[in-house]
Amino acid sequence: MTVQDICSFAAGQWIAPDSGARRIASAITGDVIAQAGNASLDVSAMLDHAKSVGGPNLRKLTFHDRARMLKALATYLDANKQVLYDLAFNTGATKADNMIDIDGGIGTMFVFASKGRREMPDAHVYLDGDVEQLSRNGSFLGQHICTSMQGVAVHINAFNFPIWGMLEKLAPTFLAGVPAIVKPATTSCYVTEACVRLVLDSKILPEGSLQLVSGSLGDMLAMLDAQDIVSFTGSADTALMLRSERHILQNSIRFIAEQDSLNASVLGPDADPETPEFDLFIKEVHREMTTKAGQKCTATRRIFVPDEQVSPVIDALSDRLKKTVIGDPRLDTTQMGALVSGDQKRDVLEKAGIIGEESELVFGELDDFCVEGADHEKGAFVPPMLFHCTNPDAAVRVHDIEAFGPVSTIMGYSGLDHAIELVNKGRGSLVASVITHSADVAREMVTGTAAWHGRLYFNNRDSMKESTGHGSPLPHMVHGGPGRAGGSEELGGVRGVMHYMQRTAIQGSPDILTAIGGKWVPGASESAAPAHPFTRKFGELRIGETVYTKPRQVTLDDIEHFAEFTGDTFYAHMDDESASANPFFPGRVAHGYLLLSFAAGLFVQPDPGPVLANTGLDNLRFIKPVEPGESVRVRLTVKHKTPRNDEYGQVRWHVTLSNQSDEVVAEYDLLTMNSY
Ligand code: NAP
Repeated sequence: MTVQDICSFAAGQWIAPDSGARRIASAITGDVIAQAGNASLDVSAMLDHAKSVGGPNLRKLTFHDRARMLKALATYLDANKQVLYDLAFNTGATKADNMIDIDGGIGTMFVFASKGRREMPDAHVYLDGDVEQLSRNGSFLGQHICTSMQGVAVHINAFNFPIWGMLEKLAPTFLAGVPAIVKPATTSCYVTEACVRLVLDSKILPEGSLQLVSGSLGDMLAMLDAQDIVSFTGSADTALMLRSERHILQNSIRFIAEQDSLNASVLGPDADPETPEFDLFIKEVHREMTTKAGQKCTATRRIFVPDEQVSPVIDALSDRLKKTVIGDPRLDTTQMGALVSGDQKRDVLEKAGIIGEESELVFGELDDFCVEGADHEKGAFVPPMLFHCTNPDAAVRVHDIEAFGPVSTIMGYSGLDHAIELVNKGRGSLVASVITHSADVAREMVTGTAAWHGRLYFNNRDSMKESTGHGSPLPHMVHGGPGRAGGSEELGGVRGVMHYMQRTAIQGSPDILTAIGGKWVPGASESAAPAHPFTRKFGELRIGETVYTKPRQVTLDDIEHFAEFTGDTFYAHMDDESASANPFFPGRVAHGYLLLSFAAGLFVQPDPGPVLANTGLDNLRFIKPVEPGESVRVRLTVKHKTPRNDEYGQVRWHVTLSNQSDEVVAEYDLLTMNSY
């Protein structure tokens, strides 16, 4: 059998393994299929290449350029993913497991591409929050901004998701404008290497953006500096060893740790075998135990059910586990494949043995399970193992030992407070799920357990058809957890990008802040629009371009007409005596919506032109009432521009309505889509 050489990609060159290589076996047959590792890899040159070539290339691009790049990459990978599927079976993963890994990774990249275009500017500086008013007259303001870190992101990944594990980190890293060096776990690095080859073949990334270490990192971590980021996924022991290196601590090098956790699933006290929640719970727990043969960081390790439901849950779950077909992951009929390696099998069995010291095995005898289409002895197959712990308050190991395979322990609880106490014994988890139809139970679980969890997942009869599953980290939502889970976060949309950017507080005048942020700040200079701004195309409009309309008087007739026409006859507009008794109004006043409509009437340019649509108003505030006889006029300023596609972009206008004494009566942002 040929042993495939798995290469590293360093400073633009593919580097084959050398004498320092480690051998990698198939999870299905135990045969050696590949080798990876190069003792003489020049890791210093890799860091230099990333920082001198990759970083500058990426930082030249705007967030939108990088988002488009991610979309193109995801599209390319999607069209060429079959090669990854073919290889990944050897990790023991079934087709369904590989979908989570491969399609899940590509999907994550698509989501970041979309968020980058919609939620980030077409610029190099990301504005974090609103302008802070630091002075009485507004001539000195504050704004938090985020810019790309100027180093390299070193991604150290776990073996269980060779594709998702890489892509879910690359997407936010590249969006942030930071180059990456990926170091996959050696056991499954042949799948990651194939994906990196696809990425490089696509020629979508600028040079130096992506490098790969197959095998050991050597002393790379000792060469990092304060602009570098380490993003680690793996076991708590390895994380502790790496993050406590003196060099990492001394240079305050960002260290993101996603590590193992003792995730819990709780059956609500409101659920019993007659409710849809009971069946849903069995289905979810079964899926968490068997998907990827339990090798998921989010898999349910601890199952908590009301004391009276322990036996029914053991029976129902055992029944389902019994029907699970274990076998060669290439077979369509296989529901659970193998663990990733013989070493992993030994580790899982050892840990299961420790859990067994405090619990009784109620399902999953090692000498009593079938493996379809593969050699039981040679491959890394194990049965799903369900333990029952009768004294979860006294037990220690069940709340601490992660057997990274299809191993879970069921425990009874006496009431919700007890359930909360037991769930939190995990000392910090990625996720806990609660299957309940009771909003009260959900609320109590949140106040009791959220501080110990990165994610809480509630499911019941109302949401089950569309729910995404206890075990699925979604690109939109944060993934990570406190304490035992690593104390870090990743994903969560734009939040995930921020891990690769530096937040800086900027203080200065409105003009300085406008120039830095590319967004007009109240008090900054205005320029007179050369023509009505609604006649100017997206590309012609300049930030700060302003137009003032003529005033319009608001009469009592206008107010009454508007009230009758719309049906809004609220007393503040109709009844002088009642309005005067209201602390906010001097007497009858104009409707706020009437003022908005008059404003539109004052600034709109009626003919067809570059303004295609008014898509919304943001931050609307009615500041001062307008009485009959007063007048309003409008100031309209181009605040910000965001390209949307090849045809049009969004213009954010700052709109101020003032009365005859130049007092601001209303303020808002108007959003329009304007053609190029
Ligand atoms: P691991 O043994 O801790 O290894 C993780 C990564 O660290 C691998 O790439 C490994 O490379 C690397 N590594 C080990 N020693 C190193 C060193 N001295 N210097 C630099 N890198 C080093 O974990 P694993 O067995 O791959 O993964 C399973 C664990 O990951 C489980 O505990 C699981 O819970 C956890 N996990 C957590 C998440 C999450 O998001 N929280 C996701 C997936 C998995 P080699 O393979 O070359 O040794």
